[in-house]
Amino acid sequence: MTVSPRLRLAIVGSGIGGLTLAVGLSKLGLDEALEIDIYEAATKLSQVGAGITVWPRAWDILKRLDLEHPLSERSPPRQEMLEGKQVLGFSYRKSDQSKGAQIVDVKLPGGPRAFHRADIQDVLINNTSSAARFHFSYRLVKYTKTSDGIELLFANGRQVTCDLLIGADGVNSAVRKCFLEDGNGDMKHSRPQWSGTNVYRCLIDAEDIKKDAPNHPGLHSPTVYCGKNKHIVVYPILQGRYINTIQFISDPSKAGTILEGPASVNFSQDDVASIYTGWEDDVQHIVKHLKRPSKWAIQTVGPLEKYACEGVILLGDAAHAMPPHLANGAAQAIEDAYILANLLAKGLQEGHHRPNLWKISSAYNSDRQPFGNFVVDAAQQQGRRYEFSTRGFDGIVEGDFISPYELTQLGRSIQEGWEWTWKTSVDEHLERALGSM
Ligand SMILES: Cc1cc2nc3c(=O)[nH]c(=O)nc-3n(C[C@H](O)[C@H](O)[C@H](O)COP(=O)(O)OP(=O)(O)OC[C@H]3O[C@@H](n4cnc5c(N)ncnc54)[C@H](O)[C@@H]3O)c2cc1C
Repeated sequence: MTVSPRLRLAIVGSGIGGLTLAVGLSKLGLDEALEIDIYEAATKLSQVGAGITVWPRAWDILKRLDLEHPLSERSPPRQEMLEGKQVLGFSYRKSDQSKGAQIVDVKLPGGPRAFHRADIQDVLINNTSSAARFHFSYRLVKYTKTSDGIELLFANGRQVTCDLLIGADGVNSAVRKCFLEDGNGDMKHSRPQWSGTNVYRCLIDAEDIKKDAPNHPGLHSPTVYCGKNKHIVVYPILQGRYINTIQFISDPSKAGTILEGPASVNFSQDDVASIYTGWEDDVQHIVKHLKRPSKWAIQTVGPLEKYACEGVILLGDAAHAMPPHLANGAAQAIEDAYILANLLAKGLQEGHHRPNLWKISSAYNSDRQPFGNFVVDAAQQQGRRYEFSTRGFDGIVEGDFISPYELTQLGRSIQEGWEWTWKTSVDEHLERALGSM
């Protein structure tokens, strides 16, 4: 009997999406059936950014991948006691005035989990099978389909051939560009669009805040300070030793344009603090302690017509980069990876080591494309609520009075905008995707 050669799987990009796929394949015992190579542009694994919130849908997947224990060791201990109880997700306030006003406390069973990105990445790497080979300083330039498979060309001059290519290479995906050139959608999506929003992000030492404001909400509660075309997200991470803070500033007239210049630059504390002059005291305590905040342009991708065609599959930000207003970009990369790993498992079972890639791609498309595009849109709409840019708030300017009734209505729509993240599960998606194979 001849043994069929193993399927050559190339994952381009080792962010949360690419790594989760590698872990998912290992946990499903597919290492033996696949040759897994992970190509990463960076010289080593490193995660930029600071805090990351994980909502129940994605947490459920991480649990199925046996990552609950190693991740829980790194999350604040108080979270371990909250399973099943209604826990604060975020508290929203109208803060663009000297005395702020409550909008809504969004609560959910068990609450979200907050991690440092580096912790998530460490745990994923520690759980990636040694059968997966990492290749650093491999920046994909393009791929070409040949009679032997898919040929990958890297900026270091190397060329390799694979059978299945996973584009997990983020918002500026080289795989997406080639995929669209290959006739799989509108070329205008080869570059991301600017959302019109910039964020300033940094971690603040909790001790700095405690000196000025020992009862500051951000020390223990995730809080969003809202204002016209601006908002600030604050939550504790690393067992409360640091406060993760993100300042958002939007120019809605620029939404959908192409960003000119770099997507990330360093800034001074003074520049950022002055943007929030006149906002309530809790905000002043935060912006006073920003140290070397970096400024990031929030870019989005799509809506793409397809996420996959035979042999090439887009995953995570490469397919659906979104603004972080529902803190769900990494979560969707995790969902994509989990579903794809399961489709591959089924395909390998049915195909006796040579899965039908057309069937896998079309099953992946049938679920991930509509859902990924839905989440991008839902995140955009949620951001407009935080910044008083939804219908009914057209005429207001920063600091204007908004009646308690209107704030309550706004709070309701914020709550509803979140609910799918804990009222639905990935199971129905998995079932649909597997069922359509
Ligand atoms: C301010 C902010 C806050 C956020 N907060 C949250 C949150 O709380 N919760 C949440 O779920 N999401 C959050 N997100 C979104 C989340 O960060 C992203 O959606 C997620 O990191 C995407 O993962 P990815 O693996 O798809 O892409 P990335 O993390 O971008 O990884 C892509 C990888 O591909 C590599 N690469 C790029 N190009 C190439 C190439 N040509 N060849 C080879 N390798 C390449 C890169 O070096 C990188 O390692 C936030 C985003 C922002 C901006």
